[in-house]
Amino acid sequence: MSRSPEILIIGGGPAGCAAARLLATWGHDIVLITRPDGASPAPLAESIPPSGRKLWSVLGVQDAVDRAGFVRATGNTVWWGAESRVELFADGERGWQVTDLALARVLLDQARAAGARVEQRIVSQTCERLRS
Ligand SMILES: Cc1cc2nc3c(=O)[nH]c(=O)nc-3n(C[C@H](O)[C@H](O)[C@H](O)COP(=O)(O)OP(=O)(O)OC[C@H]3O[C@@H](n4cnc5c(N)ncnc54)[C@H](O)[C@@H]3O)c2cc1C
Repeated sequence: MSRSPEILIIGGGPAGCAAARLLATWGHDIVLITRPDGASPAPLAESIPPSGRKLWSVLGVQDAVDRAGFVRATGNTVWWGAESRVELFADGERGWQVTDLALARVLLDQARAAGARVEQRIVSQTCERLRS
């Protein structure tokens, strides 16, 4: 890190990116450290319910999520062995079918756009560097 940040966030999943974006928007000096894309496990398919809209709104990322072109879904289907269960979202609302990595990429870009400094590295290496 070139200079010590006011706040250091470790982990660029939805929680870390949301915190980084909000805090940077509010004028704090933020560094967010997260794994490089290639160091993450295989992408995970996820269904984000329509209530995700509230989070997009608070973070000011609705346009970026729309631009990402995620599939909009009316619900989800869960398979347990040979049995499937279809759950529809209430009131015909639509959610988002994403992969965790694709959603994190959108939110990470939005954290950067708000002014957070993003470093993609594994945190144990960073700690060793800080100690030396
Ligand atoms: C199998 C499965 C299915 C799921 N399906 C759904 C679903 O359909 N819908 C839904 O809403 N939620 C779903 N979830 C839950 C959802 O994935 C989590 O709630 C969400 O990812 C939590 O976000 P987070 O930011 O707290 O943590 P994470 O998403 O786990 O983010 C943590 C971040 O920290 C990084 N990191 C970890 N260790 C280090 C390190 N040493 N150095 C640097 N960076 C590090 C990781 O790479 C990652 O980017 C599912 C979860 C699982 C496991």
